[in-house]
Formats: sequence, C-alpha cells, structure tokens
Amino acid sequence: MSYSSKTQSPHVALFPSSGMGHLIPFVRLAASLANQKFQVTIITGHPLVSLAESDFLSLFLSAFPQVISKEFHLLPFDPSTDKSNKDPFFLQFEAIRRSATLLSPLISSSSPPLSAFISDIFLASAFFPITADLHLPNYILFPSCANMLSLTAYFPSLVDNISEEINIPGLSTKISKSWLPPPLVLDSTSPFATQFVENGKKMVEYNGILMNTFDSLEPETLEALNEGKVVNGLPPVIPIGPLVPCEFEKQVSSLSWFDDQPDGSVVFICFGSRTALSREQLRELGAGLVKNEFRFLWILKDKKVDKEDVAEVEEVLGKGLVENLKDKGLVIKGWVDQGGVLSHRAVGGFVSHVGWNSVTEAMWHGVRILAWPQGGDQKMCSSVVKRCGLGMWVDTWDWGGGELVKGEDIGETIKELMGDEKLKLQATHIKEEARKAVASGGSSETNLLRLRKELERCM
Ligand code: UDP
Ligand code: UDP
Repeated sequence: MSYSSKTQSPHVALFPSSGMGHLIPFVRLAASLANQKFQVTIITGHPLVSLAESDFLSLFLSAFPQVISKEFHLLPFDPSTDKSNKDPFFLQFEAIRRSATLLSPLISSSSPPLSAFISDIFLASAFFPITADLHLPNYILFPSCANMLSLTAYFPSLVDNISEEINIPGLSTKISKSWLPPPLVLDSTSPFATQFVENGKKMVEYNGILMNTFDSLEPETLEALNEGKVVNGLPPVIPIGPLVPCEFEKQVSSLSWFDDQPDGSVVFICFGSRTALSREQLRELGAGLVKNEFRFLWILKDKKVDKEDVAEVEEVLGKGLVENLKDKGLVIKGWVDQGGVLSHRAVGGFVSHVGWNSVTEAMWHGVRILAWPQGGDQKMCSSVVKRCGLGMWVDTWDWGGGELVKGEDIGETIKELMGDEKLKLQATHIKEEARKAVASGGSSETNLLRLRKELERCM
C-alpha cells in the first residue's frame, strides 16, 4: 500500500539515537536530502543527554528552517534495571528503545505523510515492528565502518561461542576477540549484548543500510556484505560517505594561534564527544606532550557528559604540568569545530580515539592518525585505519580504564607519527579518493542519487 500522495516531494523522517557521534551523521544526511528538496523530519529522544547535542540541533534547525523537528519524549526508565552499564548515552539508547510504542502516534500524524524512515542501528529491532506496521520503507544509517557492520551482521551466529580469532565469511582479515566492544565479551546476557544481537538479526528485514564510508576505502568488506557472503539476505549496503560537514558546523575560529604555526607542525589531540580518559592517563598524555618537540592543540575532556565537565584545566592536570605545557601548545576545555581544525594547514597529525566520524573527517582533510581506541567499535575502526594506511595503531596500548600508557611511550609514538612520510602521502591519497567518491559521478554520489530515486518511488 502506498502511504503518501504523489503530489509532493518525498517526506523522510530520520531518527538518530543519542550522542554527537550519532546525531552528526544523521544531520549531515538530513541536510543533504533537504538540499535536494526532500521534506525532512528529524526526531530526537528528549531530554537530550548533552549540551553539544542541543546546540548542534539548534544550529541545524536555524540553518534549515524547512526541516521539521519532533521531540520524542521518553517514557520513565529506571536506569538501575541495568546494573552493567552506567553510560548515560547507552541508558538513553535503552530508554528510546523502551519507549518505541510512542513512535506510531508521533509519525502517523506527519503531514504530509512519511515516505520512508531512516533510523539508527541501536534502534533497529525496537522500531522495525512499528514502522513496518505503518508500511513505511525502512533504512538504517549505520554510524560506523563496514568492518563493524560485518561484525554486527555476523555476531548473532557466534554470540555463545566467541573464539580468540573470528573469521567472518567472505573476509580475508581475521578479527581478534580483543577488538570487540567490551560488553559483548564480558556478558552475553547484558542489555548491550542483547540489543546488539537483536539489532543484528533485524537488519535483514530493512530496505537498505546506509554507510558513512566509500567503495575504495573498504572494498572487500562492502563486496562481501553485498554479495551475501557475510550473512545471507542482508539488504543492499549503500556507501554514501564520507558525509561532508555542513556550512553551519563551521565556527568562526578563534584559534588565530594556528595561523602562526608552520605547515604540518601541530598535533591535534581529541577523543571525540563522550570519552574522558582518567586523570592519571590525562597527566601521562600531558607529560608525553611536554617531552616531545611538537606543538599541539589538545581538547581536554574530564567527564563523559559535557554538562558535568566543569573542572578547570589546572585542577585536571595539576599546576606544574599546565605550566610546562604552556609554551608548547594549547589545552582547551569545550567544543571546537573539529572539521575546521583538521582543515588547517598547520595540522600535521591527529591523536584520536577513532570514533568513525573523526576518522571520516581526518580522511576528508588528509590528516594522518595515531589511533588510540578507548571503547565500543573503536578497535574495529582502528583496524580499518591501519589497513588503509591512514594511520598507525599501537594495538598493545590498553582500552580506556585498562593499563596506563606511559607519557614517554606516548611522546615517542607521536614523534613516529609526525615523522612518517608514508602515512602523510597515503593520507593525502585517501583525501583525494574520499573527495572523488562524493564528487559528481563518484561512487557515493551515484549511490546517493540512486537512493533518492528509490525514496521518490516510495511515495
Ligand atoms: N567533535 C567536534 N568538536 C569536539 C569534539 C567532537 O566537532 O570538540 C565532533 C567530531 O568532529 C565528530 C564527533 O564530534 O564529528 C564525534 O564523533 P566520533 O564518531 O568521532 O566520536 P564519539 O564522540 O561518538 O565517540
Ligand atoms: N552497534 C551495532 N549494533 C547495536 C549497537 C551498536 O552495530 O545494536 C555498533 C555501532 O556501530 C556503534 C558501535 O556498535 O557505533 C559501538 O557502540 P558504542 O557503545 O561504542 O556506542 P557509540 O560510541 O557508537 O555511541
């Protein structure tokens, strides 16, 4: 049954889960559809967890007043029901999933009626029955790499028997058990693991899986996924990345300090929107920066949620360390326009937790990475970074909360990164490939065009 009238342009609703790493790619896709005269509704779970999310959403809606914003008010959820996970962003995913019954009235009242629904992998199994009931074509926007998607799709068949080395059918590279998001390995009955398996199974019922990656970056994995080698019956996996930052994301940079630095001389250190290293680890990192010769810009995060991140730099790092760091670079607490920083000619390397958005932004600007994964899918993404030659990954360094990495090692490794000409060349090459993919006639642009045609047929 056709769900909407043919007289208007397609109306697509997008529903990210929580956290900037999810909101940003959804907003970039929403902006791209709105620019193509699609009617777009963005739905977000309220209250939002972080200030960064509220600010970003407001900026987006001011820049795109034609986009409809709907607040999805969550049912009361007692977080103490999940003793294994205290992460406020994960608790928000859970709360959205548990409020799924509220989705039907919210989207049924859409005017004009919806033509398609695009949601986050975290919400896949909870939302599918609702949107399918409304005869809506359903898509997932997967916020990570194809490597992670292959694990998500295959995982339901190995959940009870995870070997040290995992062979995903159709892929030549093995995945180490130690790369899996830790909650999957620690307790297969935890809410994280349970929803991971349910979401993984549900993917086969979707119309398509949109990916923030591009063909020439992960060719083998994308081919294996699309040829049904990883899991039989998976819908089309559609790479439309890298999703390019929008104009409204660009902050007028107050970092004039950068302009005085020589080309490629500065190390940028940022662990994304929701990763706070322990204070002890932060101080080791600071000691590493003092020891090596490079200038740096360091975005310091002391708490997972920005609203709670109120301590001054001196309190976090100690007075002595701050004094020693002063002449060598900048330590900033707060949000910076990461895309803007990475685009600056002075930046020569990026120390990153390897959140997938950060990786795609580093590719977009051709900046080599020192991968220091801290949790979640970040080791799966680090293996892509290493394989494609965008960066280095010291895989003996522990996850966040594990064994302390010493300042001396950090300093030495940054030196290695900044001196590695091969990585620099390859990062430039990847930048060219990324830009080709989204340019007219490129693989991702062609896929996006096809997707838009498909969405038009959904009307
Ligand atoms: N980001 C930013 N400024 C900051 C911190 C993060 O612009 O100070 C952006 C970054 O550019 C990326 C996103 O926030 O687009 C973080 O997503 P990612 O997947 O890299 O990591 P997550 O925060 O989800 O762990
Ligand atoms: N993920 C998935 N299926 C799920 C939940 C998560 O494939 O049911 C993937 C998704 O790519 C996510 C990653 O697992 O980005 C790691 O989850 P994490 O807890 O690190 O959340 P994130 O950092 O993405 O917010």
